[in-house]
Amino acid sequence: MRKPVIAGNWKMHKLVGEALDTVLTLKPLVANVTHCEIIVAPPFTALKLVADRLESSNIQVAAQDVCEVSEFGARTGEVNAAMLRDVGCRYVIIGHSERRQYYGETNERINQKIMAALDGQLTPIVCVGETLQEREAGREHAVVQTQLWEGLSRLTVDTLPRIIIAYEPVWAIGTGKTATPEVAQAMHAFIRRILAEQFSPSVAERVRILYGGSVKPDNIKQLMREADIDGALVGGASLKAESFAQIVHYNR
Ligand code: PEP
Repeated sequence: MRKPVIAGNWKMHKLVGEALDTVLTLKPLVANVTHCEIIVAPPFTALKLVADRLESSNIQVAAQDVCEVSEFGARTGEVNAAMLRDVGCRYVIIGHSERRQYYGETNERINQKIMAALDGQLTPIVCVGETLQEREAGREHAVVQTQLWEGLSRLTVDTLPRIIIAYEPVWAIGTGKTATPEVAQAMHAFIRRILAEQFSPSVAERVRILYGGSVKPDNIKQLMREADIDGALVGGASLKAESFAQIVHYNR
């Protein structure tokens, strides 16, 4: 059985005080939840205080990026996996489409970051997904397949189950356009097939594949009914504790 995951990506939002207010409101709203893992990904500046505030709660903390190099050293502006673990992170989002688009992250760099995260005992949440042009050109499967083949190339049957994948069609991120449950399910099933070929069918069955792209309280229930959708990576709707808590309670 794959335990569902509901993760909130706060992106470049919230000063520390706002981040703390949000988790203070969120904690009691989800305190009894055991049906899924709950993760929030604040900006770097708020990680330590948010993680401290969430200690011994059922909410885990993710970073939004990690340096591909594990060793401490001359890497101005970068943060390594050990630093993230040190401030209380247990997960890290890797290869988000905004990082691919604005910071030129390649599949090769994403692969290095995944290995660095695993090395540092962090669980990577690896994002894949096609743009609107790629979908309109009928290339969505080829694009996602390449992202998986190249992005996961150094993983093995032993390490694959330690990662989470998030399918995030770029055309659905922050646009209000959600993929229909059927479209999302079809791509999730495709991803699982690729993982089965790349690694092994039994290992592919164990990997959680989250959907991301304009997930809201009113569409999460239908998405979660699909066989290969194991949770959600939520952007905009995770910024308010109340709407994120409603998404977490998709099973009500
Ligand atoms: C995201 O950025 O990962 C995301 C899915 O954003 P939104 O939910 O706002 O579309």
